[in-house]
Amino acid sequence: MSFQKLGVFQPLLDAIEALNYKEPTLIQTRAIPLVLAKKDVFATAQTGTGKTAAFGLPLLQRLKKHNPKGVRAIILSPTRELTIQIYEDLTAYAKNLDLKIEVVVSGKDIDKQRKRVRQSDVVIATPGRLRELTTSGLVLDNIEIFVLDEADRMLDMGFSNDIKAIDKLLPKHQTLLFAATFSDKVRKLSKLILRKPAFIETAKRNTTVDTINQIAYEVDADKKASLLAYLIGSRNFEQVLVFTRTKASADILAQELPKDGLKCGVIHGDKTKASRLKTLQQFKEKKIKVLIATDIASRGLDIENLPYVINYELPAVAEDYVHRVGRTGRAGKHGEAISLLDVYEKHEIKTIERYIGQKIPKEVVEGFEPDPNIRRKDKEEVKLKSEHKVVVQKPKKKKQPFSKSQAKTNKKRKTTKRG
Ligand code: AMP
Repeated sequence: MSFQKLGVFQPLLDAIEALNYKEPTLIQTRAIPLVLAKKDVFATAQTGTGKTAAFGLPLLQRLKKHNPKGVRAIILSPTRELTIQIYEDLTAYAKNLDLKIEVVVSGKDIDKQRKRVRQSDVVIATPGRLRELTTSGLVLDNIEIFVLDEADRMLDMGFSNDIKAIDKLLPKHQTLLFAATFSDKVRKLSKLILRKPAFIETAKRNTTVDTINQIAYEVDADKKASLLAYLIGSRNFEQVLVFTRTKASADILAQELPKDGLKCGVIHGDKTKASRLKTLQQFKEKKIKVLIATDIASRGLDIENLPYVINYELPAVAEDYVHRVGRTGRAGKHGEAISLLDVYEKHEIKTIERYIGQKIPKEVVEGFEPDPNIRRKDKEEVKLKSEHKVVVQKPKKKKQPFSKSQAKTNKKRKTTKRG
């Protein structure tokens, strides 16, 4: 999927190209066409999923050019920092458009703010401050689009009355409500302010369906490549999607697997779009058995309906586990999701289990038993891992019978780059 196919017009395409947005994220793919079609939207999306562009791009496109009649779009956000962040993002997206965008947060001269806001097309504000402006004379008769970003946080912070009061002042308009969760408070608010909304759920809590068999194998980090090759070979996997956490580990793995006779391709952010699409095509045509991907690169790519997904490394974000696993077991078909856990990930998988509300069975493959001498030293080291620092692991002495490349791999991997 491309931004162009979603209906985004040229001035915005040029602006996001300069920001290096190559493909839309999941929330962008779903939200942009709906917002352009003037529908009310109720979306769950966490920060970091690209939600600002999901509402920001189609909002700017709908407004197109400056109109002196006054404010036509309001975006409310819970904090000063987020408000400024949204302002900066929208200003960058709108660089080729003749639109006036204003930010309204407390701590600045309110009279000056009112004057500036009156002449703008888009206002991004915290709810309390915007309410102050309306009670002291700001008219919102021309609003076409009303966006509530992080609505659940705004409600938790006690902005419910301000939001409802602002909503009452608006003429007929389109409302977009974004929240991290479907809390009861958010649901109640949505019933009050949304009209026949389209629902977008990108962070489903429990999307791991019954048809997907999930399992985790405990293994030392330096044996993962061999175990992966062993699993693929011994179980005759025909087509397998393997996820790594970083581009670097994707590249390393792509060098290791051919040593075991496995044809593989890699897609990650450093590969050109043409190269990614070519690799994907080869994978679909079964010219390559293993497709190695990072989370970001795999987003927006049509790789679904696979029998096997392997988490070579757990994702940094629990939500991504659901996205990864969701690539298999579609439409009632059987799917298997296998996670390889090193000593750190044994700890990290607990977060994922809490997130999906399910325990993932853990097993050990004979011949790949983890070395009991390798321990998770302390919390600091786990933290270091998530920050992609280098941690030295003890090399394991035990001989592994399953892989031809084992000896070489062991020599090379005395130092394991974490993350
Ligand atoms: P947000 O969830 O809106 O805070 O976005 C998180 C980060 O992702 C921001 O730094 C955005 O600039 C960036 N971003 C948003 N959409 C894309 C995209 N399609 N491709 C690459 N980066 C993106």
